[in-house]
Amino acid sequence: MRIRTIQQLIPARQVSDGAGVKIKRSLGLSQQLRLDPFLMLDCFGSDEASDYIAGFPPHPHRGFETVTYMLHGHMLHEDHMGNKGHLKSGGVQWMTAGRGIIHSEMPQQESGLMQGFQLWLNLPAAEKMKAAAYVDIAPELIPQASLANGGQVKVIAGRFQTDELTLDGAIRGLSTDPQFYDLHLLAGQQVTLQLPAAHNALLYLYEGSAELPAGLQPASIGVHHAAVLSQGDTVQIKALVDTKAILLAGKPIGEPVAQYGPFVMNTPDEIEQAIRDYQAGQLTGDQPMQAIQI
Ligand code: FE
Repeated sequence: MRIRTIQQLIPARQVSDGAGVKIKRSLGLSQQLRLDPFLMLDCFGSDEASDYIAGFPPHPHRGFETVTYMLHGHMLHEDHMGNKGHLKSGGVQWMTAGRGIIHSEMPQQESGLMQGFQLWLNLPAAEKMKAAAYVDIAPELIPQASLANGGQVKVIAGRFQTDELTLDGAIRGLSTDPQFYDLHLLAGQQVTLQLPAAHNALLYLYEGSAELPAGLQPASIGVHHAAVLSQGDTVQIKALVDTKAILLAGKPIGEPVAQYGPFVMNTPDEIEQAIRDYQAGQLTGDQPMQAIQI
């Protein structure tokens, strides 16, 4: 058993994106702050309408996947194929931009709490130009279970595994084998779980505080910090107070990353092509959107 420790702590910083939505960004704050295959992690959360009301008017993506996990609130996704998806509290949208998508993500509420995450997950070169696809996963379709000594887990992607529990998530079988769990732990509770040893992994706390076994870095994590974990096959998290955290892990792609805003390719030439395609109205090609089967 090799227990993962904290290799790097990334405090989330407030940035503004879309038409002025306030976001806490950890991964993706700079090009050095990525964790292959993850490109960016944004946490949004506010009960001030002015922080989110402007939303994300139509914009393009190419070459990667976006995963939106709503904790509270209601957003409407609309894309160039005329698809509409209502994303409500507890739901997930898993979107593969592939060759290209143009979509908007707009709040459907004028007051109240809007809270959730958006994760950008890279695609390997062989899949960057595949047909765009998406699936909206209703809250009741996200597997969840109580943990042995209290608290609970929701498994959005991958397979959650402890000595007592194995639970398959809503999304499985992608080439980066993403693991995406939402953990709710009680004060003092410890959870020990297995992760594929070759995956890169990250823990992001959105409520509370926790500690991991001591390594090179201080072992405690505060709220709105991302902890990049060392290699290993086991993660041991102890909640210091009632704590909510997402755990992400994925198989590294190991390819060069060229990024220009919402286009993520392997080379600068491919980025220039994406910009030319977008300007010529050719970003999305004529491939139909595909529904992802879950
Ligand atoms: Fe988007």
